[in-house]
Amino acid sequence: MHLNKICPVCHQSFEARRKDQVYCTYYCRKKHHKETYYSKNRIVEDINDEENTGVILRQFRCKKCHELVTVVNKHDRRTIFCSPRCEKLYWKHPKKIINKN
Ligand SMILES: [Zn+2]
Ligand SMILES: [Zn+2]
Repeated sequence: MHLNKICPVCHQSFEARRKDQVYCTYYCRKKHHKETYYSKNRIVEDINDEENTGVILRQFRCKKCHELVTVVNKHDRRTIFCSPRCEKLYWKHPKKIINKN
């Protein structure tokens, strides 16, 4: 038996092989997770409704780009940087600040 579902990432319809299958592929699933946990200034509806209360758990400014980050998901472990990119850039030159974009 197949269930027709719409993938929340690529918005394509697909046939779910399992009742609890949410994404069309493993890649979409992975992509969604990444976007959820590293989105900037965006309160994202979580994949798991039970985990998402919509309550702001913490807010902080990214140490690298000074962007305000809002954390609403308890699985979101960000406390210093808004994205892995900022973290990487920050640690790459920990001593001198380079003004180059
Ligand atoms: Zn998809
Ligand atoms: Zn940043």
